[in-house]
Amino acid sequence: MLLLSPLPINLLALDFPGVTAFVSKLGWPKYRARQILRWVYQSRIRDIHQMTDLALQDREYLQSFVTIGRGSKPRVLQSGDGTRKFLLPLEDGGTIESVLIPEGRRVTLCVSTQVGCTLDCTFCLTGQMGLKRNLRAHEIVEQVLTAQDHLSPSGHITSLVFMGMGEPLANLDEVSDAIHRLTNTQWGLGFSPRRITISTAGLATRLHETAGLGVNLAISLNATTNEQRGRLMPRVNQLHPLPELLDACRTYPLSRGRRLTFEYVLLGGENDSATDAKRLAKLLKGIRCKINLIPFNEFPGNPFRRPDEAVVIQFQSLLRQSHFDVFIRKSRGRDILGACGQLGDLPL
Ligand code: SAH
Repeated sequence: MLLLSPLPINLLALDFPGVTAFVSKLGWPKYRARQILRWVYQSRIRDIHQMTDLALQDREYLQSFVTIGRGSKPRVLQSGDGTRKFLLPLEDGGTIESVLIPEGRRVTLCVSTQVGCTLDCTFCLTGQMGLKRNLRAHEIVEQVLTAQDHLSPSGHITSLVFMGMGEPLANLDEVSDAIHRLTNTQWGLGFSPRRITISTAGLATRLHETAGLGVNLAISLNATTNEQRGRLMPRVNQLHPLPELLDACRTYPLSRGRRLTFEYVLLGGENDSATDAKRLAKLLKGIRCKINLIPFNEFPGNPFRRPDEAVVIQFQSLLRQSHFDVFIRKSRGRDILGACGQLGDLPL
């Protein structure tokens, strides 16, 4: 046959050079690669026969050894607040979770990058699953295609956040490949990189590798001393202690007009004191950034608790006194375990 890949060939699993090579092996002109990919990513077709700008006989030929490779139907959980969680079955029996969050005119999709997670942060449900496996680029992109399928024809995803299950920087090759497909305007999904955010628990040595992607970077700091971070986020802090992480943030090559985001999960009685707020302000002094506070989302079996709202507001105002832009993240989809830190193995 044409290629050494196993048959049928999954178009979605090929990157752009892969599709180009494939098209040229068929003896077709190069532009066909773009044409085919537009159908897959922009029109989201599931059947080769829908590629109506290819001659019928070419479609039939393709159909004989190529699939588009879209997965089976997701389970969709609908929250009372409009948030939807998609559970996408994988071929090997695993499940990918993504969460669609409409808010006014904005529609944010939170995507996963791993099944489970490499890390073991104590306040995160995904962290308790261990790592099942890394997602492939097309499995990351498919979360976007699936969510878009569930929107009305005039509805569009306006931002993408890599804040679902997994640690994106532990799977950066596939994440980068996915971002290329998501941002390509000729044949891909055409998202502006400014509308995409990657969030990391702090794989300090890989932070700088994300700069070339042009997307926003968020760092889940969550603690104000090395000792505290070591307790709350043991594995990542052992790999890259707090001072090393902050150094990597300080030297991150931010483009003009851009800033880092620091996320800070507020855990009642643990890291939400006035002393923590002041220490946090000191740690971040001089870094061009904004801060997102995330009141802890509870889940069964976890001992941490959500702080009272007054404590959250107080924490915010202390940071504001030090002239930081500080936002409190609304928890969305808590009733379907779709909020930050609630993605994982619980039966629903
Ligand atoms: N591994 C990456 C991507 C996951 S993003 C990272 O850590 O950044 C998930 C975000 O939700 C992180 O900021 C994390 O700190 C936060 N989070 C995890 N568990 C949470 C919980 N139970 N309640 C609120 N936020 C949580």
